[in-house]
Amino acid sequence: MTSEQIPIDLKNLSLSQLEDIAEGFVSRRFPGRQVFGWIHKHNVTDFQRMTNVSKEFRSYLKDLYVISSAEIARVTESKIDGTRKLLLKLSDGELIETVWIPGSSRNTICVSSQVGCPLGCTFCFTGQMKMRRNLRPGEIAEQVYAVKSILKDGEGFQNIVFMGMGEPFLNYDNVIAGIELLANDHGLGIAMKRITISTVGIVPGIYRLADSRLKVRLAVSLHAADDDLRTRLVPVNNKYPLSDLMQALEYYTQQTGERLTFEYCLIGGVNDSIDCARRLIKLIHGIPCKINLICFNPADGLPDEYRAPSHKSVERFREYLYPRCPAVTLRQSKGADIMAACGQLATHSQDGEGI
Ligand code: SF4
Repeated sequence: MTSEQIPIDLKNLSLSQLEDIAEGFVSRRFPGRQVFGWIHKHNVTDFQRMTNVSKEFRSYLKDLYVISSAEIARVTESKIDGTRKLLLKLSDGELIETVWIPGSSRNTICVSSQVGCPLGCTFCFTGQMKMRRNLRPGEIAEQVYAVKSILKDGEGFQNIVFMGMGEPFLNYDNVIAGIELLANDHGLGIAMKRITISTVGIVPGIYRLADSRLKVRLAVSLHAADDDLRTRLVPVNNKYPLSDLMQALEYYTQQTGERLTFEYCLIGGVNDSIDCARRLIKLIHGIPCKINLICFNPADGLPDEYRAPSHKSVERFREYLYPRCPAVTLRQSKGADIMAACGQLATHSQDGEGI
């Protein structure tokens, strides 16, 4: 089958695109909305189950289109904190991971935006994988549907964060289209302000998001406040150095009026000194923000010199920041025993065997 013959996947289409298809066939837009609801509210991929859609329209769709479906290949649950990691097998066999993280007051779903990641941050397990491909809008939204399908009674989620595999701003259009699928009232209707895009500092993406006026939240993985160290940790800093990044963030906060979040992963002996904390405070001066500190999670395959920070250095770092930036939190990294914590997501085989 040539690429021209591959049928269009309805899961990737927006509501108005589905309505256009319906209008073209039955001269009414409403059936397109019904199909959207089946796919994005009820997670149905079988046309036969769309019982309120006419048989003629269903069979027309079945002849010309497909609705892709990811298979939940494995669910692993942390014995320590109940975090659940899903290994999803996409329709072409690629594997991604999605994590459900229960919290004391809020539960969060951490979604992936790419299969692998090309940026190679040196402390990140995903970065050790090769970049395989961008996720499509339907695959981004489907991660949330897959998590929903394994939740037990009384469990739910309040937030969605793009902190899984990949850099969301390298897949900007599909990530935004995926968010719009999730936010649509005919689907799950998730409020945009409950969705956070986390970038490692892709400057053009920050400007695009600022101009988009979408109400999603922005988090920036900073990890160092000087260019030399940051380039060591986050090589893309070479392309988008801190001066350009901070200028973009200033623009973002002015355009949106939103406070942003800086993520700072403390790596023992690397970026957890008081000097680093001092530089951090200087760098973010004047930017409405909060700082999330996260402790590095060691994993095989990452540089030996990277280790978890000591309790003492974490406290010292936090105490230096706190009076100077009133919004500092130490985020408990969850799911470390199942390799679901920050920077630990990766899949490396194509036969259903994630690591
Ligand atoms: S930290 Fe994010 S951007 Fe960097 S390699 Fe890992 S997934 Fe990619």
